[in-house]
Amino acid sequence: MIDLRSDTVTKPTEEMRMAAYKAEVGDDVYGEDPTVRKLEETAASLLGKEDALFVTSGTQGNQIAILVHCTPGQEVILEEESHIFYYESAAASALASVQTRTIPGIRGRMDPGKVERAIRGEDIHYPETGLICIENTHNRAGGAIIPLTNMNEIHTLANKNNIPVHIDGARLFNASIALGVPVSELAKYSESVQICLSKGLGAPVGSLLAGNKAFIRRARKWRKRLGGGMRQAGVIAAPGLIALTKMPGRLGEDHENAKRLAEGASNIQGLSVVNKVETNIVVIDISGTGMDEYQFVERLKERGILGGTFGEGLVRLVTNYDVSRDDIDSAVSHLHKIARDES
Ligand SMILES: *Cc1c(COP(=O)(O)O)cnc(C)c1O
Repeated sequence: MIDLRSDTVTKPTEEMRMAAYKAEVGDDVYGEDPTVRKLEETAASLLGKEDALFVTSGTQGNQIAILVHCTPGQEVILEEESHIFYYESAAASALASVQTRTIPGIRGRMDPGKVERAIRGEDIHYPETGLICIENTHNRAGGAIIPLTNMNEIHTLANKNNIPVHIDGARLFNASIALGVPVSELAKYSESVQICLSKGLGAPVGSLLAGNKAFIRRARKWRKRLGGGMRQAGVIAAPGLIALTKMPGRLGEDHENAKRLAEGASNIQGLSVVNKVETNIVVIDISGTGMDEYQFVERLKERGILGGTFGEGLVRLVTNYDVSRDDIDSAVSHLHKIARDES
């Protein structure tokens, strides 16, 4: 199987499995797991924040950020197709009792003017704006990179209005590698940032939430309330440390493979690549084949390739550590055959 459904499907490397086996552990709820602490300190330092917290998932990290930054009845400004709005089961309203205010973006990026106009002034009728979220890279925009200038403008206007910014950086390392800047350069335009270890970085579990010390102290309590206080979590933090320190450097391969896949697909009659491929996500409009996205994904599966549906007429393919350049060439040739057989 060539699994292109997501970059979450990667299996831990041998080195990660060995690290898990040998990890020094303790009860992390008591603050006694040295491996977890090392992971948190390493993440904080890489991200240029005072402290960090190891959380179970990207969703948990994002939601804890909302819970810490906001109070019930506030409003969170975020992009219309952002993960927090689109894929987190309305957790922001179910857990933090906040309302979402979505801004349509262009390739995932919100116009700073629109963000500023969405901020609510003091009025008895209005919710207060409690938080602004930026997603980098932007998943539904096809792994699009949010440029530093855009983040800087939004962060500056947020600060001017005393509103914190949270970066959903599930794939922040992809942006960092593609732009050739350290992750801290991206994370600095925020009061908090969440990164996933379990996506392109290949760890089996976990995310990190980073911010200042006071923020992380409150985040730690929210994590406990949500049932995310983990005990000898060093066994999952150890592979996470390898993901964080050794895996970012190879993300460029995923980006090369995604470009190769997009180039191959765009030469096939009936298919068109809808996103400008900047990182590891390729979104293909398959409607020219006469099939719908479910039929197309089924045809792929029959040929040993797994992809995901991504809305009407759209299929998403994500390159990852477990997919080689040869696999990409093979996937392109199968795409070709599927499109040819149907038309
Ligand atoms: C995957 C993803 C998340 C959530 O991560 P989980 O670990 O699956 O909960 C958050 N934001 C973005 C942009 C993602 O792609």
